[in-house]
Amino acid sequence: VLGVHGGTGMKRAKMTPELDKALRADLRRALEAGCAALDQTGAGGLDAVEAAIRVLEDSPHFNAGKGAIFTRAGRNELDASIMEGKNKQAGAVGFVTTIKNPISAARAVMEKSKHVLLVGPGAEAFAADARLEIVDPAYFRTPRRWRQHQEELQREKESDKTASRQAPPSESAGQPWSTVGAVALDRAGNLAAGTSTGGTSNKLFGRLGDSPIVAAGTYADNETCAVSGTGHGEYFIRFAVAYDVGALMKYKQMTVEDAAAEVVHRKLKPAGGAGGIIALDSRGNFTAPYNTEGMYRGWATRDGKFTVRLYQD
Ligand code: ASP
Repeated sequence: VLGVHGGTGMKRAKMTPELDKALRADLRRALEAGCAALDQTGAGGLDAVEAAIRVLEDSPHFNAGKGAIFTRAGRNELDASIMEGKNKQAGAVGFVTTIKNPISAARAVMEKSKHVLLVGPGAEAFAADARLEIVDPAYFRTPRRWRQHQEELQREKESDKTASRQAPPSESAGQPWSTVGAVALDRAGNLAAGTSTGGTSNKLFGRLGDSPIVAAGTYADNETCAVSGTGHGEYFIRFAVAYDVGALMKYKQMTVEDAAAEVVHRKLKPAGGAGGIIALDSRGNFTAPYNTEGMYRGWATRDGKFTVRLYQD
């Protein structure tokens, strides 16, 4: 069983038929890549998560890898993490600007170093040593995101003038949260989860969100579930969102559906934390609650059926 997400996305009113089609096609391709990995002998949930996320990182339509959003200084700074639920091993990279597929670098940190999280130039040097593909930072830049960046800088200037800075970023900036993630359950019964992002638009130099933070944006535990989140990362860190879902299952005997809904709708939402998660339990139950207008998502069930949704329908 495999689930993917491409973030909470943009307001439905702004969606074009072309983008709608492209997003659905990308999510489907991510599911295909992940399922192909799950079908291979010797491969497992981690391979599926990595393969699915690489497809979404390579697509220009999501805020991860190519097409990532810009920092205030006009750079692309990427974060990713991955975790497996059997031994609870995890790896992550943050603040990287030259690694083509940050999710593969996160996996390399997990498998080839004694650390969990590497950031900045150290992570980049490590990825190069691990023979991962290194690109010029300009590779990540797309005209559409650059335009959004300029618009947002302008909006910020205007909102400074009208002193309405109290509005949550999701509302004030129409923040297109389109981080990507995946959760998988393999034939051996092992869960895995991963998340990859360019972070939040106009973020400050050096800002890390929840996506590279194990327990905030990503978590996997065979006893409970695998989780990947998207949304306002500062809230996801403060509320230990990904970990909390499994904790509710473990300590309160909740189902994955109830635990995920509790965190997204009854903890994050009242606090002002916009976002959503995908969660998959060790029996293959998948759920994808969000407290935003939509969340780009897809899942593949045991019978080989693929489903892709952007909003409620
Ligand atoms: N959660 C990500 C962050 O805060 C943003 C996103 O989900 O798009 O970095």
